[in-house]
Amino acid sequence: MTLAESWPNRHRRVTVTTSWDDGHKKDFRIAGLLEKYGLQGTFYVSPACRELDPESRLDPEGIASLGTRFEIGAHTFSHPDLTAIPHQEAVSEISRGAGFLENATGEKPLSFCYPYGRFNRDLARSLRGLGFHYARTVRQFKTSRSDPLAAGTTVHAYQHRTGLIRYLRAAGVSPGRAGRWLDWGAVAADLFDICLKNGGIFHLWGHSWEIDKYDDWDRLERVFAYISGRRQADYVINRDLGQLPRIRLLVASSYFPPKMGGLERYAFEMARGAARAEMQVDVITSGSSRKIEREQNEDGMIIHRLPVQFRIKDTPLSLRWFFDIRRLVRALDPDIVNVHMPVPFLADLAALATRGAPVIVTYHCGSMKGQGFALNSLIGLYERWVLPLALKKASRIICTSEHVRQNFLRRYLDKSTTIYPGVDLSVFTQRTGAPQEGSVVFVGDFRTGLKGIGYLREAVRMIPQATLHVVGRGAPVESPRTVYHGQLRGRELVARIQDSQMLVLPSDWPEAFGMVLLEAMACGVPVIGTGIGGIPEIIRDHEDGLLVPPGDARALADAISYIINNPDKAEELADRAYKKVVAAYRWEVNVKKYVAELAKVARMQPGKDTPA
Ligand SMILES: [Zn+2]
Repeated sequence: MTLAESWPNRHRRVTVTTSWDDGHKKDFRIAGLLEKYGLQGTFYVSPACRELDPESRLDPEGIASLGTRFEIGAHTFSHPDLTAIPHQEAVSEISRGAGFLENATGEKPLSFCYPYGRFNRDLARSLRGLGFHYARTVRQFKTSRSDPLAAGTTVHAYQHRTGLIRYLRAAGVSPGRAGRWLDWGAVAADLFDICLKNGGIFHLWGHSWEIDKYDDWDRLERVFAYISGRRQADYVINRDLGQLPRIRLLVASSYFPPKMGGLERYAFEMARGAARAEMQVDVITSGSSRKIEREQNEDGMIIHRLPVQFRIKDTPLSLRWFFDIRRLVRALDPDIVNVHMPVPFLADLAALATRGAPVIVTYHCGSMKGQGFALNSLIGLYERWVLPLALKKASRIICTSEHVRQNFLRRYLDKSTTIYPGVDLSVFTQRTGAPQEGSVVFVGDFRTGLKGIGYLREAVRMIPQATLHVVGRGAPVESPRTVYHGQLRGRELVARIQDSQMLVLPSDWPEAFGMVLLEAMACGVPVIGTGIGGIPEIIRDHEDGLLVPPGDARALADAISYIINNPDKAEELADRAYKKVVAAYRWEVNVKKYVAELAKVARMQPGKDTPA
């Protein structure tokens, strides 16, 4: 089954617009009908149009009067085929026509229509340079957004003799009803029905003089009556189609700031990047109130915090979430759902409740077993039965390290990619002063013992000049030359790292990633890590840090001594590490990759740019 086939018939919106070319006096009759039916439209006026006799052309007063009620778009000065004349001449035709209209209406036109629909890439580029947002061609049967500077239309209000097959295909009409082709009003109604069904853009265009010549006013009025007053429709001028479509992104994450761990920070930075890239971003997360709380942050994201009924260790949970999330998904009708895993439940429910919107799973670490979570057997069941449902359903999987992607998610390599977290270089700044001689800093949660703090203490005991500074949660264990600082945040944390001669991450458990390593690298502090999990992705041994085997106190002591006794070498390692962070581990860099990934998934969706 392809994505298009799995797409359910969701209640989608139709954008309705009309446009009327050349600037004939009969345009006023069109304007009257548009007003009668509450429709919107754009009149493309060519002030000296060679197709019209001078008497029938709109004069500046007429253009100004029409311009108070509808959009006036540019259509060149004298209506030449722009592809048949030198480019420079074409540009001056466009500018002269636009200038004439601006003088008449007092407004610079932002929409353009190519005479005879003839255009090329150079013309589109020049239009962009001249400040136009939208340019229309005469291509028919389009019901989806396309290049705003080579936009198609849906129906021409004129009885064409060619295009039958394209109409049958676009409208999904059986050949037995091909007779409808003989009535452009019926063609318009069929294509409007398709838009109602699938969502999209309905763009009717024509010439007032043509309607008049073929005595089609009644037919036009019937079409106007048919397409007007629909609750599902938005009635707009052509210029409104020049905006790129806003992608609606729904993010689900068990936690979201103000609670701040690595996962929350990542989810927040990426969501904010999407919001700043003009996407509509909604976030579902857990809250502390008894009812759903909503807030809008300064970047325009809307955060929905769901009530938590109980927690299993650190995992928030509620039996009502399935209904809450299903209702939210229905109301928000997202184009993409991005769930942050594997903290169980909330993200799984969101992934399963998406009603056909593509799912992106962001996967933060390997197995949760043995990470200090209680109920390992329950986690085991979850990882075996529930998690794969979301992973299988996912259109794309984003891993936060290559280690996770290659090991824990190797079954999904073909649809996964790695996007690293970033370091905030405005917070973690390069140190300016000299560090405390022999100071070794450890930053992390050492409640579980999995961070290898035990043999780090042992290593420090072997080196008389070394002092260990421990930052983070955990029970202090008395040890010579060891200072416990508790949890530090913000400036205090940065200052502690900057003051240290080196940072050590001695994990003997395969961590997905070592954020603290990157933070120290950003501070210009040399780092030592273990060759396990995602750590070797960050540190290249003796290139931008030192790697030691996990669990080996002697090797770790040697590495610490090396940094203490070779300050010049240590400085070189720190310099190269800093350059690496700037190039590959800034939030800006990785957020950009995330936004590109979203745009790619959005393009896979029907109704976005599948030609109709
Ligand atoms: Zn024209």
